Amino acid sequence: MPVRPRLWIVPVLTVLVAVAAALPAFSRAGSGETHRTGAVAPTKAADARRPAARDVVLAVHGGAGTALRRETTDPRKEKAYRDGLADALKAGRRVLRDGGDSVTAVEAAVRVLEDNELFNAGRGAVFTEDAGHELDASIMRGSDLAAGAVAGVRSVRNPVSAARLVMEKTKHVMLAGEGADDFAARNGLPTVTQDYYWTQRRWDELMKAKAPAKDPRAGKATKGGKGTGAAEEITGTVGAVAVDRDRDLAAATSTGGMTNKMAGRVGDSPVVGAGTYAKNGTVAASATGHGEVFIRGAATATISHLIEFGGRDVASAAYEVVVGRLPRLGGRGGVIALDHEGTLAAPHSSEGMVYGYLTEDGDIVTRLFPDETSSDG
Ligand code: ASP
Repeated sequence: MPVRPRLWIVPVLTVLVAVAAALPAFSRAGSGETHRTGAVAPTKAADARRPAARDVVLAVHGGAGTALRRETTDPRKEKAYRDGLADALKAGRRVLRDGGDSVTAVEAAVRVLEDNELFNAGRGAVFTEDAGHELDASIMRGSDLAAGAVAGVRSVRNPVSAARLVMEKTKHVMLAGEGADDFAARNGLPTVTQDYYWTQRRWDELMKAKAPAKDPRAGKATKGGKGTGAAEEITGTVGAVAVDRDRDLAAATSTGGMTNKMAGRVGDSPVVGAGTYAKNGTVAASATGHGEVFIRGAATATISHLIEFGGRDVASAAYEVVVGRLPRLGGRGGVIALDHEGTLAAPHSSEGMVYGYLTEDGDIVTRLFPDETSSDG
C-alpha cells in the first residue's frame, strides 16, 4: 500500500508550535513573574505591559515627551539627568532608611527635583503665555486617602511642601492662587520672587512656542503661538511614588505646567485621581503628559480602580490607561505606578519618559533612553 503523505501533520504542528511559543507570554502577562530578584533588565517595546522593576521602594520621574536619544544626547546632559534623578532618590532613601514614612520620602524626593532647574517644577518651571510662572503640586497618602494640593502658586519655593501642608493643616484638599501662596508663607515655607523660577532654556522654549510657525506650502508665516510644550523634548514635570516599611503607599507630583499655557490654566498634576493617586492595597501613581487628557481620563484613579475592581496587576492596569485609553482621548504621556509589593510599572505613550527607582537593597537605577524605558512610542 503506498504511503500517503501525512499532510494533516503540518497545520497541527504549526498550531502546537504557536501555542508553545505563546504560553510563557500569557503567564507573564497574566500573573506577573513570581521571582523577586531586584531590578529586571531594561525592557523592550514588546514588553511594555510588564513591570519596569521589582522590589522597588521609591521611584521618581522627570517628565515625558520627545525621547532623549542615546546617539545625540550630550554626555553632560545625560549625566545631569541621571544625577538629578539619583539625587532625588538619595533624598528619599535617607528618609526611608531612618524609618520615615512614604509621604515624607516622596516629599523629600520631589523637593530635590523642584530645586533642580533641569526639571519643570520649582526652579526651572516653564512660562505661561504672559511670561509668568504658575506652579501646581499635589501629594496623597495611601493609608487614609488624605490628599493636599496647590494650584497656580507664584511664590512658593517648594510647591510639594505647600501641598503637604494643605493635607495636614487644613480641612481642604486644594488651595489655589494667592490664597495658597499666603497660606504657605504664613506656615513658614520659604517664598521666592518670580525671577527665582527663571531659566534661559524655558525662556527660549516660550519664545519658540510664540514664534509664528512657517506654512510649509507657501513658506509664509502663519499665526503662531500655539506651542504648548507637548512636542518638546522631555517636558520635565516631576513626581515620586513610595512604599514604606509599613507597606503604606504615597505619591506626589509637581510641575510648572505646559509652556505658553493660559494664565490661570491648571493641569492634572494637582488634581487627585488625575496626576496623583495613592491608595493602600492598589497603587501609588504619579503622571506626566498632556494634563487635560489625564484629567478627562481620571488617569491615576482609573489605574487604582482597574486593580481594585478589575483584578488587574499594576503593570497591566497602568499600561491600559496610559497606552490603551489616553491616546484615544488625544493625549500622550506616562506614569510611574508602584504597588505595595514593590512592583513598579512605568508605561508611557509619549516617545520618551525619564525616571529612576530605588530598590529595597538600596540600589539606584535611572532610565532615560527609549531602549531603557520600555517605550511603546
Ligand atoms: N502634566 C503636566 C500638565 O499638564 C505637564 C507635564 O507633565 O509635562 O500640567
